[in-house]
This record gives sequence, C-alpha cells and structure tokens, in this order.
Amino acid sequence: MQIISSGITDIGLKRGRNEDAYLINEELNLFVVADGMGGHAGGEYASSLAVNTVEELVGQLRLPDPQVSDEDPVEILRTALADAVSQAGNRIYSWACDNQEYWGMGTTVVVMLAHRGNAFIAHVGDSRVYSIRNGDIEQVTEDHSLVAQSVREGLITEEEAKFHRMRNVITRALGSGPEVEVDVQVKALRKGDRFLLCTDGLSGRVEMDELRDVLTSHSITESCRQFVGMACARGGEDNITAVVVQVGDDR
Ligand code: CA
Repeated sequence: MQIISSGITDIGLKRGRNEDAYLINEELNLFVVADGMGGHAGGEYASSLAVNTVEELVGQLRLPDPQVSDEDPVEILRTALADAVSQAGNRIYSWACDNQEYWGMGTTVVVMLAHRGNAFIAHVGDSRVYSIRNGDIEQVTEDHSLVAQSVREGLITEEEAKFHRMRNVITRALGSGPEVEVDVQVKALRKGDRFLLCTDGLSGRVEMDELRDVLTSHSITESCRQFVGMACARGGEDNITAVVVQVGDDR
C-alpha cells in the first residue's frame, strides 16, 4: 500500500523556542509528533528523544513470518509499538533523573505506523490524530488531559473545555515516571484515507470542521502550510506541528 506524507513545524508567534518535534520515515511508514515541556532545553530535548527513540526501536522490530508463526501479527505489533513508546518515556525519565537541570521535562507523543493495510496509532498526552475518510473527519485519539477527563465524566461541556483555564494540564506524559500507559488503536486502511497528527498548537486553535475543510480541498503539503497560517492568524501563542499522511499516491 503506497503511503505519502508531508510535515511542518513552526515556532508560532509568541514562543522563544520550538519544543515540538516530528518524524517522517517513509521507509518504515512511521510518523511521529511530540510536544515537549520543561525548563531550559528540556522540552526540546524530551520531544526529540521521544521521536528518535520510537524511530530506533520500530526500526529494530523483526516481526515473525505469518506463514510459520501462529501468533497474531496485529497483536504482536500493537504490543511492540506500545513498548517502544513506553521505552521512549523511560529514557526521558532516566535522563531527567541523571541531569538535574532537566528534572520535570516530558512530552506528549502520537505515533502512526502503517503496516500491511493497518494503521497502528499510539498516543500519550493531548497531541492528536484525526482521520478523514469520504469527507468525514474523526478524532481518533482521546486526550489524556484534565479537561477531556472532565468532559467524559460529564462535569464540563466540550465548549467549556476549549476555553478552560486548566486546558493545558495533561494527565499522562512521557518522562513523568519510569513507566507510562500507552493507548494503541488499530484501524484498517483504505485508499484515499488521510490522517492528521498534530500538537495542541493546531488542534487548540482550529476547529475540527475547519481541519476537515482544509484536508479535503488541498494537497497534503498545502494543507500543512494552511494549518500553520491559520494557527498564526489566531494568535500563534504556541508551537504548531502537523503531519499529514495519505493512503494512495494521488497528490
Ligand atoms: Ca503545545
């Protein structure tokens, strides 16, 4: 299955640093977006360590031959991806333990790995993955954040969550402890599907139907450019990162 992709990251208009990081590895069909946090250079270091570790570990995966193994290859890969992300969190935590000036650093992460007609989507934190099929958009990942949890529990509405003063508080991050729970989903791919991986610098500024409108009317590269323009036009307070993945190679 042919996959094409495009990515962009932008410091935005207000921040002195870009603590987001992304990875596109078309050989592995691996796509990662991370949003780092922490003083000094901690945020940048955490997000880049996350994407580099996931790339290294996924690159080392050797899946059993389905002809000779009776293990379910989908379950094996699901577990392996969760382990890779968790190990990235462990490396970040260990680094922060050994280097006091980095104490408290962490990062969100979203990962998409396309393999044999399936997308394996892993995430920790409030960076997001959206999928677009036949003109419809769906938020694939559920934010690990205080406001998302409050919405799920019926304590606040989705509208209130958008402007809540605690909207940046995340309940899970890579680097906050030696181990982290990683959510992994598997979705069957169809030709023409598009996926957007992004940080809250985009999803916090641009509504889901606007994301859909851009993704259904522009090329993947132009979509990325438009996203940065839209987020900046609305203040650009945060770093902005987007990776768009398309199944099929019609540009
Ligand atoms: Ca951010």
